[in-house]
This record gives sequence, structure tokens and C-alpha cells, in this order.
Amino acid sequence: MSIHEPTSLQERIPRWPRQTGDEQGLLAEILATEAWGSSAGHFVHDFEDAFAAYHDAPHALACANGTIALISALSVLDLPFGSEVIVPSYTFIATAAAPAFLGLVPVFCDTLPGRYTMDPGALAQLVGPRTSAIVPVHLGGAPCEMDEIMAVARGAGVPVIEDAAQAAGIRYKGRAIPVGDMATFSFQSSKNLASGEGGAIVTRDDELASRLFSFVNVGRVPGGAWYDHRTFGMNLRLSEFQGAILREQLKAHPELQKVRRDNAERLAAALAGVDGIEVPPVMFDDGSTHGQHLFLMRFPTLTADRRDELAGLLHAAGLTGASTGYVPLHRNPALLGQVAKVCEALGRSVPEAHCPNTDRLVDETIWLPQTVLLADPEVVDAVADIVVTAFREVSGGASS
Ligand SMILES: *Cc1c(COP(=O)(O)O)cnc(C)c1O
Repeated sequence: MSIHEPTSLQERIPRWPRQTGDEQGLLAEILATEAWGSSAGHFVHDFEDAFAAYHDAPHALACANGTIALISALSVLDLPFGSEVIVPSYTFIATAAAPAFLGLVPVFCDTLPGRYTMDPGALAQLVGPRTSAIVPVHLGGAPCEMDEIMAVARGAGVPVIEDAAQAAGIRYKGRAIPVGDMATFSFQSSKNLASGEGGAIVTRDDELASRLFSFVNVGRVPGGAWYDHRTFGMNLRLSEFQGAILREQLKAHPELQKVRRDNAERLAAALAGVDGIEVPPVMFDDGSTHGQHLFLMRFPTLTADRRDELAGLLHAAGLTGASTGYVPLHRNPALLGQVAKVCEALGRSVPEAHCPNTDRLVDETIWLPQTVLLADPEVVDAVADIVVTAFREVSGGASS
């Protein structure tokens, strides 16, 4: 059967998550002991040490998931109730939900169309006296323009938390993240480093690390007594089972990232000459690396309906992971409802969002998941053919 047959293509895109080492053996080993939790075992701590080292950082704290990682990072900064946290308007909802859960007001920043990340120019316009933090997202794995974002943050004197849920292990101009104060990660099943559920916060700041330890450990201090709760926290820990899986997954991560990178470059090159298909950079020549979590494609000549039609054709061809992506957060009623509650309690109105680039992007985007980038190169070539053929079909059938 040819790769161009839908069922064959689907079968040749690797399943994810999957074992990358001896997960099964380690899980059996843990089951046979009484050390199922990280207070008794060593797997979560081993993973934390390895994950910190992976980011050239002294501290990594594992926690329940990526949303909790964001909430923990924001919590330990002690931001004033009702203060404003600037987030991208184009990201997973958790980036904006995290501040809203804490009685903070997410303020939505417009997107850089060529990169799908926070626009530093728009950010500079949004910063004001109520701003208490900035949360850029390395979207799809693309590093944000951190130098520009840090310049705005330093000017305003506010901390920066990088949402790196899609960007484990990336470099920005040769440096590991966080470039800012903390970076948060997710190990939910779809992510490039997965343990079913899970998260982490990485920081170079000893004081923040100590507060994070307490926040995810019910207010305890390292080495302190079990019922000595010094600060207000929660039990947000991972189990040893997740710790063991993550330890194995992390060992395989650099090698798998290389496969994803080679394939992303191959796919980007195959689509490069096609009028009407734009692919944001997947490689950089300044020492930055891309997390290759999503392979983003933009179709600026298509209407939203035609874009949806294109996604349908990709699904029918066997690319079942193709997605039309996020809805703009500044238009999400559930999120805005929560923000309205916070603002009402403060006697303020919900800040109005102005994100014209995001409003356009959301209609013109389709992304492919990282699993496509784990396929064999000939499968990646077939994917490029399918995208180009389907794009021409919805564009009116013009040949070549
Ligand atoms: C996945 C993701 C999160 C949330 O992580 P969970 O582990 O699902 O809670 C936050 N931000 C971004 C950008 C994500 O992709």
C-alpha cells in the first residue's frame, strides 16, 4: 500500500506517548516497593536533578501538570490581587487561566505573525502601572524574542515566567531557558516529554526555588518536619511512577528532538517554494533551537471556511492530527467570565483586548503535531505532497 493511502499514512506516523527506555521495568520495580510517592523514593528527585541540569539550572521542581506549574510560579511571586499579568492571546488556555485562578487579571498581547509568539512591540504598549508579571509562551517550541521581552520587563521592573510547556530543552541564542525568572513545563501526554500528566518549574533563583518547594509540598521546608507547614501551599507532587517514566523519557529526548528537527527542516524546505503557504522558522542561525512541538503552517490566501476545508482534506488523507489550532483567548467566553468576576470584585471593567494579528492568524492556521516529525523521511515527503495538493485543491484547483 502506498504512503499516500490514508490508512497507510496514519499507520506510519508514530504513536505517542510511547516507551523510550525501560519504563516498564522501572514501574514494576517501584510497584514491588512501598516507595510509590516521592517522599519515600528517589525517581522524582533524580528526574528533577536531571531536568535542572538539562537546562543548565540549579533547580527544577516537579509538579502535577503544566497548569499547576504556571499557578505555582505565579503564586510564589506574591503578586498583588487584581494586578495584571500579560499573556499571549494565541496560546493554550492554561497560560491565561493560571493568573485568573489566582485573582490576577490576564491582559492579552498580540502575536508576531512570523513566529506565532508574543509581539514585543505590542507588549511594550500594554505594560502599565498595574502590570505585575509577563508570561511569554515558546509557542509550538519556537523561542520567543526574549531579549526584547526582557528589555520591556526590566524597564517595567516586573518578573518574567516563560511558559515552556511546548519547549523542553530549547536554547535561546545559545543559552538554556529560563532566560527570565522561571520557566514552566508540561509532561501531559501530547508533549515531547510525556508521563501521561506532569509538570515542572525551572529557575536559577535559590529563593524562588525554596518557595516553589514549599508551595508544591504543602508549605513544608526541605528537611523540615511533616506537619510543619511554614507557608500556604498544596500537595502538588508527582508520584514515583511518573518520575521513573520521566527519567527514561528525558534520556531519549535529545535523540528524538534531533529526529524532529531534521524532519521539520525537511518539511519546511518542501513547502518553502509554494505560494500561499507560510511556515515560521524551524531553525535559527543565532544559537537558538526550536522545541518542534507543533509544525505550524499559515495559509494567508484562504478564508476560514477554505482553511477548515483544507484541514478536512488533510484528515481524510490520514493526517488525523492536523489541527486548526487555538481559538483566540481574548474571545473565549469561559475565560472572560472568570476575568470579569475578578474585575467586578475590584470594581473595574475587563481590559479591552486589541489583537488584530491574532484575529487574522486564527483563521489562517493549521498545525501538524510533533508525531509527524517522528516519522520516516519518506513519510514526511508524502506529508508535504499531501499538504500542497490539498492546498491547491481548496485554492481552486489551479495546477502547479
Ligand atoms: C500543555 C500546555 C499547558 C498546560 O499543561 P497541562 O500539563 O496540560 O496542564 C500550558 N501552556 C501551554 C502552552 C501548553 O501547551
